[in-house]
Formats: sequence, C-alpha cells, structure tokens
Amino acid sequence: MTSAAFDLSGKVALVTGGNAGIGLAMAEALAEAGADVCIWGSNPDKTTAAGEQIERHGTRVLALACDVSDESAVDAATEEMIAKLGRVDACFANAGVSGRGPSFLEMSTEEWRRVLSVNLDGVFFTLRAAARHMVAQGDGGALAVTSSLAAIEGQPRGEHYAASKGAVVSMMRALAVELGRHKIRANAILPGWIETDMTREWMKQEVVQDRVLRRVPARRWGIPQDFGAIAVYLASDASAYHSGDTLLIDGAYALF
Ligand code: NAP
Repeated sequence: MTSAAFDLSGKVALVTGGNAGIGLAMAEALAEAGADVCIWGSNPDKTTAAGEQIERHGTRVLALACDVSDESAVDAATEEMIAKLGRVDACFANAGVSGRGPSFLEMSTEEWRRVLSVNLDGVFFTLRAAARHMVAQGDGGALAVTSSLAAIEGQPRGEHYAASKGAVVSMMRALAVELGRHKIRANAILPGWIETDMTREWMKQEVVQDRVLRRVPARRWGIPQDFGAIAVYLASDASAYHSGDTLLIDGAYALF
C-alpha cells in the first residue's frame, strides 16, 4: 500500500462543523491529501477564518455559513458547493452541540429539541443532501458521521446528547445497507475524550482529570489532529470495501 491509495486529488469533501476542533482537523488533513474542501459552520466569521487557514494546503476551499438544523439552509449550501466545486465525494456530518442541564428530571423539552435538532436532524439533512448528489454522480462516495462514546456508554445528564449520538450510529448502518449498491459507504466515528472548544473548560476540572484521564490507556486527552488520518482513509478509495462500521478513536478508553 503506497501513499497513492490516500491521494484525494480530484475529490471534493464536505465537513460540517469544519471551522473548529475535530472538523477543522479533518478538513485540514483532507486538503493536505489533495481534496477540495467545503466547510460549514453556523458562525460566519469563524467559518471564514477557518477557510483561510485550510487554503494553505493549496486546494480549493469553500467556507459557508450554514446552520445544519435548518433544512433549507442545508439544501442551499449543498447546491452552492456543487455549483462552485462541481461535485461531492465525501461528506463528514460532524457538526454537533453538547447538552446542558442539571438532570434528566429537569430537562426541558426545549433543551431536548435544541440538541436533537443539530445532532440528529442536522445529520439527516446533511447526509440526505450529499447522498442525493452521490447517487446522481454515479461513482460512489463516502458518508461519515461524528458520533460519540455516549452512543455506547451511559452518559448521565446527557440523555439527549446520547440519544442523538446513538441514533446516528444506527442511521449509518441503515445507510450502509441501502446505499451500498451505489458504491456509497457509511461509517460512524466515535471520539473519546478530545480537547476542543466543546470540552476544554470542563476538562480543566480536577475531578475530571482525576476520574477520566486515569481511565485512558493512552494516558492523554485526544486532540483534533487524531482525526485527520481516519478522515483521509474514509474519503479515499482505500476504504472502498469498509462500510457500516463504528470506529472508536478513544485511546482505548472504552475498553478499560
Ligand atoms: P467544537 O470545537 O465545539 O466543534 C463543534 C463544531 O460544530 C463547530 O465547528 C461548530 O461551528 C459546529 N456547529 C455547532 N452547531 C452547528 C450548527 N447548528 N450548524 C452548523 N455547525 C454547527 O467541538 P468538537 O469536539 O470538535 O465537536 C465535533 C463533533 O465531535 C461534535 O459532533 C461532537 O458532538 C463530537 N464529539 C466530540 C467529543 C469531544 O470530546 N470533543 C467527543 C465525542 C464526540 P459554529 O460554532 O460555527 O456553529
């Protein structure tokens, strides 16, 4: 196996939530491997700045403000990507929000819907729009979602987050079966404890350092760059026969 297997020249990859954290690291690695990249984020300034950062790899970059929980915004941003970059070969539905709130008993319906609208509806709108183009293009593609260990482990006070992340794993399995005949593969990535804007403040707490870090066999927090290679692999032809999987990138936390 040579590096040619991971050459993404000529491919177009979409990364939602590509303006920060795990998504930005994925987008940078995809561009470095030769892909033209489209990123979406809900914050326009943050998204523009990230797009300029990714441009240093020399491929075409399109940075669009798009709230993934807004169906018509997703469809419009997808059409703009196709119009400007020509196609879509890989779609990483990575945008997500964490849950808030003291307990399940006090969880409001509004809070439940806030999380599900981004983490589940947003993934549905994004993957459906991308898959429609992949099927029409006729030469396959890669769908991936950023789930979480919350999909497979109990997360107290995060039932909405866990429900959304479990749902997308099931969605990818269904898509792997339905779209396999179109040479479209569908996989879920489950990050462990990764230092990003979503977790940074929380990870500084001593109790978290004490309870979590000593359960990570790799003996460190994950970093966004730990997700670059998996994104390149999933977008590349090297993963042509790899579909319906859940890929844990967690320093073996879930096993310990
Ligand atoms: P992050 O740095 O906070 O990134 C979240 C990304 O999602 C940002 O780019 C954000 O952009 C985008 N986003 C949020 N709401 C959006 C919306 N409505 N429309 C479009 N984009 C939206 O955190 P991260 O850790 O990299 O999170 C990336 C993914 O990994 C999420 O799905 C998260 O649930 C998952 N994850 C993270 C961890 C961890 O330990 N960090 C663990 C398991 C899973 P804007 O600010 O512009 O909206």
